[in-house]
Amino acid sequence: MNERALFHPLTRRASYSVLVGQVTMGGNHPIVVQSMTNTDTADVEKTTAQIIELARAGSELVRVTVNHEAAARAVVKIREKLDSLNERVPIIGDFHYNGHKLLTEVSDLGGSCAKYRINPGNVGAGEKHEHQFAQVINIALKHNKPIRIGVNRGSLDTELLTRLIDENNQRAHPCPLSHIECEAMIVSAIESAAFAEKIGMPPDKIVLSCKISEVPDLIAVYRALANRLDTIQRPYALHLGLTEAGIGSKGIVASSAALAVLLNEGIGDTIRISLTPTPSESRTEEVRVAQELLQTMGLRAFMPMVTSCPGCGRTTDTVFQALALSVQNHVREKMRHWREEYVGVENLKIAVMGCVVNGPGESKMADVGISLPGTGEEPNAPVYIDGKKAVTLRGKHLALQFQNIIDDYVRVRYARRFDH
Ligand code: SF4
Repeated sequence: MNERALFHPLTRRASYSVLVGQVTMGGNHPIVVQSMTNTDTADVEKTTAQIIELARAGSELVRVTVNHEAAARAVVKIREKLDSLNERVPIIGDFHYNGHKLLTEVSDLGGSCAKYRINPGNVGAGEKHEHQFAQVINIALKHNKPIRIGVNRGSLDTELLTRLIDENNQRAHPCPLSHIECEAMIVSAIESAAFAEKIGMPPDKIVLSCKISEVPDLIAVYRALANRLDTIQRPYALHLGLTEAGIGSKGIVASSAALAVLLNEGIGDTIRISLTPTPSESRTEEVRVAQELLQTMGLRAFMPMVTSCPGCGRTTDTVFQALALSVQNHVREKMRHWREEYVGVENLKIAVMGCVVNGPGESKMADVGISLPGTGEEPNAPVYIDGKKAVTLRGKHLALQFQNIIDDYVRVRYARRFDH
């Protein structure tokens, strides 16, 4: 690979732009962050509160399960409540088994959902499959709503899978079952999209996903899906997500590993990080992870980034760790207001470094950086602003002094919104 190829900036895969409520995904639009509630949808108060919490954390779309009539009726009330509070975040209805029925019987449900998620493996079997799938598509068309055809390995269309297994068994050298399952997912998504188009759904109202819980398989499936869509000249927008990613660091690492590879190849127009929250954890954790993933890959900016070294034997006390944490917390807290007040502040780069080895160098590359004295170094902490040494801090109140420098920098560097 030549140098030019190595440093070539990421090129997004061409895809249709899809309008979901007031949010556009696909095409050249920013990759959209979305999430899903885990409250009982029928509980209007709790679900509305969680949708607002997720939206305020940065979820640009919020999906809710619509699993029975009470949930379906609640979605209509939730939408009304959100509108009355001037919360415009689009709600996506997640339908399985009875979506055709709920959308037919509950008036206004179709209009309250900004997009419908349909799982082709869960819309009924045999003759019912096409009929019930078509019912959902026709209601989406009536309300001018887009759909996501969301295939999951755990709920594959059994008739399609059986057909592909039978074909595989006829081969001289049959493929492993896992390959056939991956192939079935891709075929299910593409055939369902073709059927939706046949009924009248325009291609720029179709989003596809093929979710799996294994990282290598997810990468392989999305690569193959994107390739095949390009071949048939149907560049549907793609929703990325590692399903059942897991809890805590395992879920974060697995999701990031899978999605980063695909995003780096330009694949993906919207992402969801499917974390299992710990019992006391806020659902917004998955939104934060999605934003940090996109930001660390240079695809979008949401929040000032704090670069800090891991520390080592050169910085043996906890002053450095405490400073890095306090700066991160300070910036997150301040962002609640900065976001409203200053244009572009989400691009701010801060460095908090432990010693002289990489401290000055890394600090110079940040907008504002501090290099702490490592063990045995002079008890001075040089601060760099825009690549130049600005001041040297000393004493017990380094954190406060450094936070004040950051606040001043933001005030001077970024234009105020009301001045625009
Ligand atoms: S900057 Fe210094 S303290 Fe931090 S990891 Fe490097 S050598 Fe260790």
